[in-house]
Amino acid sequence: MDHRYDNVNLRIPGPTPLPPDVREALSAQMINHRGPRFTELQQEITAGLQTLLRTKHDLLLLSCSGTGGMEAAVVNFLSPGEKVLGVSIGYFGERFRNIARAYGAEVIPLDFEWGTAAEPAAIQAALKAHPDIKAVLVTHNETSTGVTNPLKAIAQTVKGAGKLLLVDAISSAGSIELDTDGWGIDVLVTGSQKGWMVPPGLAFVAVSPEGWAAHAQAKMPRFYFDLSKAKASAEKGQTPWTPAVSIYYGLQTALKTLLAEGIDGIVARHQKIADYTRAGVKAMGLQLLADERVASNTVTAVRQPDGVEIGALLKRLRENHGVVLAGAQGPLAGKAFRIGHLGFVKAADIDQTLAALKAELPQQIAA
Ligand SMILES: *Cc1c(COP(=O)(O)O)cnc(C)c1O
Repeated sequence: MDHRYDNVNLRIPGPTPLPPDVREALSAQMINHRGPRFTELQQEITAGLQTLLRTKHDLLLLSCSGTGGMEAAVVNFLSPGEKVLGVSIGYFGERFRNIARAYGAEVIPLDFEWGTAAEPAAIQAALKAHPDIKAVLVTHNETSTGVTNPLKAIAQTVKGAGKLLLVDAISSAGSIELDTDGWGIDVLVTGSQKGWMVPPGLAFVAVSPEGWAAHAQAKMPRFYFDLSKAKASAEKGQTPWTPAVSIYYGLQTALKTLLAEGIDGIVARHQKIADYTRAGVKAMGLQLLADERVASNTVTAVRQPDGVEIGALLKRLRENHGVVLAGAQGPLAGKAFRIGHLGFVKAADIDQTLAALKAELPQQIAA
């Protein structure tokens, strides 16, 4: 095994570190992606993901990054000129609706201040003001600000109004409480490199029967991400195009661990490590970006400490301590940094992160 990056404490919100057994699995020999071993592999993975996502509906595996999954969620269920409500609380909410705009949807934006969560009442009002809205785009966990939206309540509002609900759950699924079928989510997207403990390269898309009904009418152009093709292939235990076979190997191994723990255990573990991270950050005199009632259990955003240049701080953490944190995006660039705590993460990783921060921050903050 190649150990060149083993001493890095990678605390960004994806890609996340890999458990040793996953790294081992990734190096297995190639198999025929049209053969029986692949079919078995894909069926096992699909069933495992369905259990953890709490869905009995179709779950399709796409070889692409999370954004490819978001594009699939747009182009398969909408037509050019259709109105969609694009709810955004940060960078990834904006990305979702930018994809919809790129394919000709008429996006009605609904923005909430970065660092806050979306309000179901405001979504309800927007749906009332625009009765011809076809679908609602929403981010479950906004990775750029470390905020988790109240998705269950949002879903109640959206489904109560009879609209299609398309959800980017890339940094929440498999980590944060989520009931795909129970909450009535029509299309849910997640990505392999976040809480799933495998490398980037796969997106998972769950589709409800109502989603498929919309798909039958949807006219946006699509080819690689055509979910009719993915579904037809999945029914034969295949994919339409050559899949990222190695990531399947890693995922098969990661899912064994995750299924043994169970989704309730996984969710509780992320709650615990997030509480631990937030408490440690606050104890250092630093300020959380998000209100704790909506703070994410997979990523914590911390406000820029007075007089500290974020880029320089991240460089010192990386070079002096091997701790890699993420900066912030969009209007928060230079004004915050983020600590990822999802997937394969232990309290000791957070302890080391906090100790490194303490060592590098000016005294009056670290005291
Ligand atoms: C990481 C992430 C994405 C983008 O995924 P890529 O794999 O980089 O394409 C989209 N949305 C959210 C909420 C994310 O956390």
